[in-house]
Amino acid sequence: MRNALGLMLGSVLTAVVITAVWFFTASPRADGAAANTANVLQTERPVAAAKPVPVRDDVEVTAAIPAKPAVAPQAKAACANPDALGVARVVEIDTTGGPGFGFEHFKQLDFLTDKEVVLTFDDGPWPVNTPSVLKALEDECTRAVFFPIGKHATYHPEILKQVAVAGHTIGAHTWSHANLNAKKISDQQAKDEIEKGFSAVRLALGAAPAPFFRFPELQHGPAAMAYLGSRNVAIFSCDLDSFDFRAKDATQIVNTVMTKLDKSGKGIILMHDFQKHTAEALPTLLRRLKAGGYKVVQMKARAPLQTLPEYDEALVKDMKLPTASTRPVGSVVQTVSE
Ligand SMILES: [Zn+2]
Repeated sequence: MRNALGLMLGSVLTAVVITAVWFFTASPRADGAAANTANVLQTERPVAAAKPVPVRDDVEVTAAIPAKPAVAPQAKAACANPDALGVARVVEIDTTGGPGFGFEHFKQLDFLTDKEVVLTFDDGPWPVNTPSVLKALEDECTRAVFFPIGKHATYHPEILKQVAVAGHTIGAHTWSHANLNAKKISDQQAKDEIEKGFSAVRLALGAAPAPFFRFPELQHGPAAMAYLGSRNVAIFSCDLDSFDFRAKDATQIVNTVMTKLDKSGKGIILMHDFQKHTAEALPTLLRRLKAGGYKVVQMKARAPLQTLPEYDEALVKDMKLPTASTRPVGSVVQTVSE
């Protein structure tokens, strides 16, 4: 009898200890997440700039896919470059209502501190140039935000997948790079450009993109702005335009960015992974950023964009693809011997 009572008391004590351990390890996370839902922007993971940042083996864009992700997470070695530029800070964006970033047009959210920069690349994915940009970023163990053109994503989905696998954030930049502020563009056409662009990125990745959008030529019209707000898509302008698309060589891009940056002290930098000179300039530019004491901030979305099924389906139809085209590669092709 006495032994049985002791056993019972022991069991109760064990249960209490297990509950206490769970409470102190698991519950604060949930509390933290709930408490922060009102914030547009939240620092996720502070990392000292000088320290090499371990390469993350998860891929942000695959987070929302319940089935096997097409972009298989790849285990990678930690940063091999002890003097890498790295990522100083990762911020998570609550895109509710479509907040705007980049002081060239939107000055409401001044979240960067002195010497902080965000690297952004438009108009890819493109052969040679995009992989060169990825290599330069990888060599410095740093991360950027990419705004691919929908059409280009359908031309080169395998390159866009490399961007995702490398851990960068991927938004969208319309279907065909149309100026959505042009008089001849109707509201419906603007919506189609936006949604088809996002659906094309989704199709290329096999996973939903971040609800991050940049207007071609930074031309934002009121109707398209309101639409993006209703879709809870964040709008990216920039603080610093590299004007890399009209630079005569890589040196000019480096000089333009560093001169502007030394004046402003911080900012979201607009570049193009589509451009040859940008890819050539990047290794030097990243070194100059490091030497100048600048720190890279990576922007991520709190939740991926839910693309509209009618646009996803129309795209597969337009491209005359097999209906199974959205299946992750791992569910179609499996190595059975080698
Ligand atoms: Zn563009």
